[in-house]
Amino acid sequence: MGLRKPIIAGNWKMHKTNREAVQFLREIEGHVPADGVDTVLCAPFTALSDLTRAAEGTPVQIGAQNMHWEENGAFTGEVSPVMLRDLGVTYVIIGHSERRQYFNETDETVNQKVKAAFAHDLFPIVCVGENLEEREAGRTEAVISGQTEAALKDIRAEQCARMVIAYEPIWAIGTGKSSSADDAGRQIATIRQVVRDLYGSETADRIRIQYGGSVKPENIDAFMAEPEIDGALVGGASLKPDSFLALIEAAAKERK
Ligand code: 13P
Repeated sequence: MGLRKPIIAGNWKMHKTNREAVQFLREIEGHVPADGVDTVLCAPFTALSDLTRAAEGTPVQIGAQNMHWEENGAFTGEVSPVMLRDLGVTYVIIGHSERRQYFNETDETVNQKVKAAFAHDLFPIVCVGENLEEREAGRTEAVISGQTEAALKDIRAEQCARMVIAYEPIWAIGTGKSSSADDAGRQIATIRQVVRDLYGSETADRIRIQYGGSVKPENIDAFMAEPEIDGALVGGASLKPDSFLALIEAAAKERK
C-alpha cells in the first residue's frame, strides 16, 4: 500500500449561508467513506462554527479558505489561526489564486501563513499555479517551482510531509476547461521534484499534491489514475452533494 491517502477538498469560495452549509453536511454525512480518502469542506468563515460542530463524529473535516498569520491584533476584518483551531477547524487553504489576484496575497504572506498554520496545528493546503500568459510563454515550471520554494521557506521536513499542495492552473479554474490529466501529472511531478531537492525522497514521497481546476465527476477518474495526483481541490463541483460524493467515491479507490 502506498504512503499517500487521497484527499478531496471542496472549496466553496463565497457560496453557502451557515444554514445551507449545515444542510449540505447532513445530506452527505451518511455516504462519505470512513477510510481510503480524506474528505474536507472549506467553507466561508461564517459557517465554520456550526459546520465543525455538525461534522463531529463524521469522516468529514472542516477547513477555512484563508487566515491571517498573527494570533490576534489590530487587523480589522481578519481571522487568526487561534480562532480557527478554537472551532475545531483542521485545514486551511493558503494562497489561492483568487486571493493572490484580488487580495494582494504574495509569496511572502503565503509563507508566513504556512508557518502560522503549522504553529497552530492546522494543515495548510497551499495553492500554486500559472496563468495563461505564463503558460503560453513556456514559464509554467518556473512559476510553480518558484511559488512552491517560496511557500516552503523555513519549513521543516516533517512539516512539509504533512502539508498539501494544490496545483491549480489559473486558466482552468471555473472555466470548465480542465488541464489534461497527463499535463497535470507532469506539473505535479515538477512540484514533487522541488520538494525532493529541498528535503529528500522520503518527504517527497509523503507530501500530497492535488490537482484543481474544473474537476468534476466526468473527469475525476482520469486525474486519479495519474500516479502523481493525490486528489483534487474542487470549486463548482463541490457545491452539490451528488457531485461532491461522486468525487470522493472515485478518489477512495486510488491510494498512491
Ligand atoms: P473550479 O473547480 O470551480 O474550477 O474551482 C477550482 C478552484 O479554484 C478550487 O480551489
